[in-house]
Amino acid sequence: MSPNEASTSLIMIFGATGDLAKRKLYPSLYHLFRKGKLAKQFAIIGTARSPWTHEQFRENVKDSVLTSIGTNDQIDDFVSHFYYQPHDVTDTNSYIKLRELAAELDSKYSLNGNRIFYLAMAPEFFGTIADHLKADGLTDTLGFKRLVIEKPFGHDLESAESLNAQIRKSFAEEEIYRIDHYLGKAMVQNIEVIRFANAFFEPLWNNRYISNIQITSSEKLGVEERARYYEKSGALRDMVQNHMLQMVALLAMEPPIRLTTDEIRSEKVKVFRALRPIEGEEVDEYFVRGQYGQGTINADEVVSYRDELNVNPQSNTETFVAGKVMIDNFRWAGVPFYIRTGKRMTTKSTKIVIQFKDIPMNLYNRNEQLNPNLLVIHIQPEEGITLHLNAKKSGQNMQTNPVKLNFSNDGTNGINTPEAYEKLLYDCLQGDATNFTHWDEVALSWRFVDKISEVWEHQTQSQFPNYSAGTMGPKEAEQLVQKDGYFWWNITDLDVENC
Ligand code: NAP
Repeated sequence: MSPNEASTSLIMIFGATGDLAKRKLYPSLYHLFRKGKLAKQFAIIGTARSPWTHEQFRENVKDSVLTSIGTNDQIDDFVSHFYYQPHDVTDTNSYIKLRELAAELDSKYSLNGNRIFYLAMAPEFFGTIADHLKADGLTDTLGFKRLVIEKPFGHDLESAESLNAQIRKSFAEEEIYRIDHYLGKAMVQNIEVIRFANAFFEPLWNNRYISNIQITSSEKLGVEERARYYEKSGALRDMVQNHMLQMVALLAMEPPIRLTTDEIRSEKVKVFRALRPIEGEEVDEYFVRGQYGQGTINADEVVSYRDELNVNPQSNTETFVAGKVMIDNFRWAGVPFYIRTGKRMTTKSTKIVIQFKDIPMNLYNRNEQLNPNLLVIHIQPEEGITLHLNAKKSGQNMQTNPVKLNFSNDGTNGINTPEAYEKLLYDCLQGDATNFTHWDEVALSWRFVDKISEVWEHQTQSQFPNYSAGTMGPKEAEQLVQKDGYFWWNITDLDVENC
């Protein structure tokens, strides 16, 4: 086995005919295969109810690779490892056939009994599948067994606890890989490195030097075909409970004593434990929700959320959330972490802006305010870092001028940055769970979010829609930051190409 090569394994994909498998999993597996990162010996079983044959499955995998990557070099060799089993996840007989196919492939490819079960299916099936995998003998194997679970992991703490209790009957915590695909993104993984590998950031990374941190994850898209799911979820559960709070944890955690899964997770968990609970009347003070009305995106008129397909015309589901998150510990006391996420906003972008405190006195432009120093981490679609500084204006005077130092991660390694799913699949094959969420993180983040959704569920929301499609959300989101003396940095101004 080459040093980069992942463990030999049988990967079973539940939901193999679905959107996620097609758009993300097959192209990512193909990338790993082409880079020599999959073991020579591997096999993949796809399952779903559609009555496909192995051949039909392979043709579909070929199609999805070609559509997504535009090339299909060595594709026949790649797809020869794919097998299909028509399977209803609620039916015991299906699992027995699956067990037989797994045993056959295990011996054909010498897979040492290593198994990864990837649940790319609707969440209501997660528990049932885990139960069957154990009861019908699929987890009874000599090698490792790992369960990969897509989001959402529950829809509140109670449902997450019951799902967790159910899957823990079949898998130990260290065998469960809960996906938060933001943790697979190159620049999210870079947060730790920027902080802990640079002498000049870490000493300033605290409430003495940082005034506030802003995390924005905006989408231009509306709810698209996801209305049935989204109506029950909304932006708070869909984005804040997982991706946004995970970014907060990475920005706020203490340096781990070692870069091991346990040490990193334990530091993140401490951040979740230090989140100031926001409950009751405080919710309106700290959090703002919004729902898009009609508006203009890319010069096209788009309908309001309530007019989207499969959305209740009186829906109170939020498509936007802005919040002020406080971390009550020694390092962060008094520093607001502002988070903002929504659909149908001006631009598609995920960025983190770290705003440093003003210097005590401006020697240069006495009547003006100096621009604050900013560190901007561009997560997507651009990947990079920008540092905003003040330098001398050219000429005789001693006036200052804002300058920006840019690093763009796109293409710097000579290859496109691997997609999040490619990294996460590889990590799972290697048995590295660092970039997956531990149960404690999931539970604590639900505890935080539940207190907010409980209040919102009991309030009549008469203001919706309260922002037009194509804008950065309701005016209350601006006020949330302004009342602390700040403003949201304009995301498009901060783009790498505008720097
Ligand atoms: P999807 O397109 O609806 O696919 C669902 C899959 O489940 C299909 O392959 C379907 O195939 C299969 N299925 C449904 N009922 C079944 C049953 N009783 N027995 C066996 N198979 C059954 O869903 P998706 O978009 O791929 O999402 C899958 C999971 O990933 C969800 O948890 C979602 O929240 C999560 N996720 C998706 C995305 C994305 O970009 N799509 C992003 C993040 C997270 P048959 O109809 O052939 O049975």
